[in-house]
Amino acid sequence: MMERRKLGVALVGLGIYSDGELGPALKETSHCYLAGIVSGSERKKEKWKKEYDIPDKNIYSYEDFDSIKNNDSIDIIYIVLPNSMHKEYVIRAAKTGKHVICEKPMANTVEECDEMIAACEEAGVTLSIGYRLHFDPFNLEMMKLANEKVYGNVKRIFASHGLSTAEGWRLDKVLAGGGPLMDVGIYCVNAGRYITNLEPLAVHATEGQKKDKKKFANIEESLTWTMEYPNGVIAECSCSYSQYRNHLRVEAENGWFEIAPSFSYSGLKGRTPEGKMDIKPINQQAAQMDDFALAIMNNRPTPVPGEMGRQDMKIIGAIYRSMETGQRVET
Ligand code: NAD
Repeated sequence: MMERRKLGVALVGLGIYSDGELGPALKETSHCYLAGIVSGSERKKEKWKKEYDIPDKNIYSYEDFDSIKNNDSIDIIYIVLPNSMHKEYVIRAAKTGKHVICEKPMANTVEECDEMIAACEEAGVTLSIGYRLHFDPFNLEMMKLANEKVYGNVKRIFASHGLSTAEGWRLDKVLAGGGPLMDVGIYCVNAGRYITNLEPLAVHATEGQKKDKKKFANIEESLTWTMEYPNGVIAECSCSYSQYRNHLRVEAENGWFEIAPSFSYSGLKGRTPEGKMDIKPINQQAAQMDDFALAIMNNRPTPVPGEMGRQDMKIIGAIYRSMETGQRVET
């Protein structure tokens, strides 16, 4: 059998997530490696070039990014930019003919998601969203306990994710598309789907009181909301930019299961009535990128496609409409 090469990944945007997680993860991947970078900063390019031994021909700026189409050593373009830039860069990436991973949230609106999905379809490339928890063994165990009804039918879900602080573009509604719901609350929205395998029928949201009205002038500081599923399951969720929260708990007919922290890169811990979950942690980002590389090499779909990113944005849109009107909103 022909030996298959590792696929080359180009990271677009060398900020905190690329620097702290994706770059290091690409040192641990088996089916892909860091082949190229796209950045506006000469200093960052120099640093990454040295650390990852990247040839000059694979180093791009935002201006010459489109010429990646002529570079055979890059197979996957990974967009790790502020949320409002995802649409433009995913569409430009698709036009190069390379497969695309886009960070969450996929975009700022459902309409943008539709354009991104259409561009990838038209170019015949696969689009995936950076939902790393679909490859995390603790979250996979939660999905299994729910799907296999180990404690009977799921009745209630509690999901909360909050950061004690946020800064930069995350506070800018134009760049971020919203506040903590877009950035961290999205994990609760996504967890609701992977625990129930269903889409919520309706949502009801209440904005939390703003303690810092200046900092959070245009975005919510915190938010609580419920999601109602067609089988009667209710998910009670919250997110914040001023209070740390990191918890996913499921209550079922005959028991419960939970992880806390639940949405972090590492240090996850799980419990059931039987005691602690005995699970070996893995590098989530390495597993996520390896799975995408394998999906491409084996010509199979990714479990975290653009459609999933779009669906989360549809629900997030309904949650914001509910927050603004105070009404229960059907999705
Ligand atoms: P960051 O601010 O650290 O990095 C953003 C990068 O974009 C920087 O390199 C910056 O120079 C560049 N950039 C280009 N144009 C810019 C502009 N106009 N304004 C601001 N920055 C600009 O952000 P980050 O934390 O790395 O987040 C990037 C993306 O990754 C976001 O979509 C975020 O939601 C996502 N993210 C995902 C996870 C995850 O666990 N999946 C974790 C963190 C971030």
